[in-house]
Amino acid sequence: MVVAVDVHKHFGPLHALQGVSLEIPRGEVLCIIGPSGSGKSTFLRCINQLERIDAGAIWVDGELAGFRRDGDALYELTDAEVARQRLASGMVFQRFNLFAHMTALENIIEGPVTVQKRAKKEASAEALALLERVGLADKRNAYPSELSGGQQQRIAIARALAMKPKLMLFDEPTSALDPELVGEVLAVMRHLATTGMTMIVVTHELGFAREVANRVVFMDRGRIVEVGPPREVLVDPREQRTRDFIAAVL
Ligand code: ATP
Ligand code: MG
Repeated sequence: MVVAVDVHKHFGPLHALQGVSLEIPRGEVLCIIGPSGSGKSTFLRCINQLERIDAGAIWVDGELAGFRRDGDALYELTDAEVARQRLASGMVFQRFNLFAHMTALENIIEGPVTVQKRAKKEASAEALALLERVGLADKRNAYPSELSGGQQQRIAIARALAMKPKLMLFDEPTSALDPELVGEVLAVMRHLATTGMTMIVVTHELGFAREVANRVVFMDRGRIVEVGPPREVLVDPREQRTRDFIAAVL
């Protein structure tokens, strides 16, 4: 579903991604862990083209991100073409970024109706089903300010799913939440994983990674240090840097 080959990203003098290569098959749940500043968010943002990469290549669902090939030549996609490619992935951020002036239901149908030009009635019916799925059907007319952080984040997940993405990217979706609200968001993600959705999850929730991930990636200083099944990477890592990180987080 995602193939990254030797991806590099600089921010001025800072070399944030230093040759990241990774293949994520359809249906995989991949968790990315690593210290602050190691490039986890940058990698996610490159996958869904919130950032442009400087070298290497990323394919999402068979399409080369940001470029069109014509014979031997590569052409940069227009902004509109990039926008279309970006719809392949849904992203959920640390901070719930719901539209404050819209109800839960309105937040969820906004993308389908305005971007995908879908009929409002049909989009609303699907939004209701998504609200059921995240356990918030009774909150459909609530505004974000009337919802807890955990509820807002579950709405944010429903909103991303409403666009029918091929993969879901999560960037520390629970780290801004009060501890007692973390579980309800992880439960929604755990259920999503059982539906076969391809998921890339940056998280410090090592318990979630151990239970739900098919593979765990440990990143440090812009590189993938170690990747493997959770049992290996989280319980018996090969690399000392991974071991130190896990010891520090637990
Ligand atoms: P955290 O766990 O704190 O979220 P991270 O692993 O997600 O960290 P990134 O946000 O990917 O780290 O950042 C990687 C490096 O790139 C950091 O040194 C960061 O300061 C830098 N960086 C990220 N985005 C930008 C930007 N837009 N401009 C300049 N530097 C940036
Ligand atoms: Mg980050």
